[in-house]
Amino acid sequence: MQLASRLSLLVVVICAGVAPLRGQDRSAAAYNERRQAMVDLIERRGVRDSATLSAMRVLPRHEFVPASQRSRAYGDYPLPIGHGQTISQPYIVAYMTEILQPKPGMKLLEIGTGSGYQAAVLAQIGCEVYSVEIFEALATSARQRFDRLALAVTSRHGDGHHGWSDAAPFDAVIVTAAAGYIPPALVAQLKPGGRMVIPVGSVYGVQNLILVEKDPDGNIRTRNLLPVRFVPMLSGIR
Ligand code: SAH
Repeated sequence: MQLASRLSLLVVVICAGVAPLRGQDRSAAAYNERRQAMVDLIERRGVRDSATLSAMRVLPRHEFVPASQRSRAYGDYPLPIGHGQTISQPYIVAYMTEILQPKPGMKLLEIGTGSGYQAAVLAQIGCEVYSVEIFEALATSARQRFDRLALAVTSRHGDGHHGWSDAAPFDAVIVTAAAGYIPPALVAQLKPGGRMVIPVGSVYGVQNLILVEKDPDGNIRTRNLLPVRFVPMLSGIR
């Protein structure tokens, strides 16, 4: 090959290598950069569990919020998802996930599917996730999201106060709406040695995030973790 044509080939290859990103690629790269910054912040705030952090580094949180909220998807605050409900603050999602000590293969129940983001984090870690949502419209859109993103979450529409008896018992239970009391069915559906995390307290004020542990003999111990503010756990079917 002539030197001139070799040089022009080299120029083409170099130019291809530094070609500017376009359209979707550019926004994917921008979202990725913001997502890494979000997880860096969560790590600085004290979350250490590597499975939790890795899952949040890859999951596209912007796919879990309404289109009008996409530009805010990687801020450390809750966002509205319709029906008066919210997707939780990323730090709280990370904190609650870490508390559950999630491992691949663990069987887990979530009450309050909402956007599906919390369930997605657990599924990304490799947990077998069951999730219940009281608003039919939210349950439907979350299921479509799980399918689109190929996330192994089994979800249904219903009132989570009753848990999911057909799929019980669970290694862990996570409740992402504020309860006035700890629903007895959820404690009953927890395996001996299992743990549950649940915000409990005044539904329109500040609640306590509580860790419920069931020891191998079935005895229950509860511990206050931190003050939180969640949307209320509702009753009936919507
Ligand atoms: N885990 C969600 C957070 C959603 S906010 C996420 O990652 O986006 C809490 C959710 O709990 C809301 O979607 C609300 O509709 C739902 N919820 C409230 N009461 C419930 C109940 N009794 N059973 C099931 N879901 C309930």
